[in-house]
Amino acid sequence: MKDVVPPPPPIVHNPLETVLELFRQYVVPSYGRFDLAFVRGAGRHLWDVAGRRYLDLGSGIAVCSLGHAHPEITQALVEQSQRLVHISNLYYHEPQGRLAAGLVRHLAAGKVFFSNSGGEANEGLFKLARRFGHEEGRYEILTAKHSFHGRTLAGISATGQEKVKRGFEPMVAGFRHVAFNDLEAMREALSPATAAILIEGIQGEGGITPATADYLLGLRALCDERRLLLLMDGVQCGYFRSGRFQSFQRILEGVRGGETFMPDGVSMAKSLGGGFPIGAFWVREPYADLLGPGMHATTFGGTPLACAVALKVLEIVERDGLAENARQLGAFLRDGLEALAREHPQVIRAVRGLGLMLGFELADGIPALAGGEKPASIQCVHRLHAAGVLTVPSGGHVIRLLPPLNLTRGEAEEGLALIAGVVRALAG
Ligand SMILES: *Cc1c(COP(=O)(O)O)cnc(C)c1O
Repeated sequence: MKDVVPPPPPIVHNPLETVLELFRQYVVPSYGRFDLAFVRGAGRHLWDVAGRRYLDLGSGIAVCSLGHAHPEITQALVEQSQRLVHISNLYYHEPQGRLAAGLVRHLAAGKVFFSNSGGEANEGLFKLARRFGHEEGRYEILTAKHSFHGRTLAGISATGQEKVKRGFEPMVAGFRHVAFNDLEAMREALSPATAAILIEGIQGEGGITPATADYLLGLRALCDERRLLLLMDGVQCGYFRSGRFQSFQRILEGVRGGETFMPDGVSMAKSLGGGFPIGAFWVREPYADLLGPGMHATTFGGTPLACAVALKVLEIVERDGLAENARQLGAFLRDGLEALAREHPQVIRAVRGLGLMLGFELADGIPALAGGEKPASIQCVHRLHAAGVLTVPSGGHVIRLLPPLNLTRGEAEEGLALIAGVVRALAG
């Protein structure tokens, strides 16, 4: 028989190079990756193949909400995997029901559907909106410019950024993008075919831009007036990162009319499983039964294992007051970044975000980055790696901090000091 699989690459004594070579040969190159390979994590630190330690202020893009190798998560994983991993949604199991109840408790009367990712959670919201408008021939979903809603075909159609669509046209029909935080533009964009509006409470990939309180309240009133679903993508900004369960709850704190605000649907994923893949969407009454038996499904959605882990994450976040921790350490980090921006306005132009979802925007034309081929944000993230701290670029100019929700004060100080060192070097 002819051997179609090429032999493995020869053993090289550079452990990073060995991993990179496997990827060059065998992994679809659809990601722009940094040349770092990790082998281990503990708490808010990761170790690379060469044994070097990094402070993780990115959490694998807002996913590792309790940091790495949290002993209680490990225990939940082990215990549930010894009992029951998967049964399919042909049957019932308690962890899925209990997790749904736990999520509903943080929102309002409604129900939850479980998926495996954020893109899939949003797909569920798209189908909900289509189903909602179907009898009246309404199908259109308006989203915001600079939004991000995932990489599925409908996800890139919903996303308000050209770069994710290019090369994959034609897009799924029925999505249009409107300027963010501009209520009048949204009102003008409505058509008789519009069924729903979908926004992020804080735009993540778009550069860390929170919705304003007036915009949220205005969209709610507009959706009520025109009988549209108001849908929120909480995949990145949700799950206690802002200091409240959902970012809209934080944005509307203390705002008149804010206590009664509720969207009709919310998608979640990223932090929900603390690193174990799970996504979900919540849908409010009276729409909770719109997707009836046989209308929507995914084989892996809400397995006993995923739900047991997510339940444990939720229990720990609530028990340890991690929303409050996100609020306090977020304010501390933000103050520190703002002080740096005042000190070096030629390097940091602006600081944005809420809780532990922060971004700092690099100024244009930083001389130290002028010669580089890569965008300024990537070059800056490289320098932060060299300093021993992991962050996430957002577009060409923004550096995101999305640390684990159980970050400590000491680690926040360590992170600020490392960032300050890089910013001072960039200031020259
Ligand atoms: C990450 C993200 C998604 C997509 O989630 P995946 O799990 O990558 O499919 C959708 N919306 C927002 C706001 C995100 O940040």
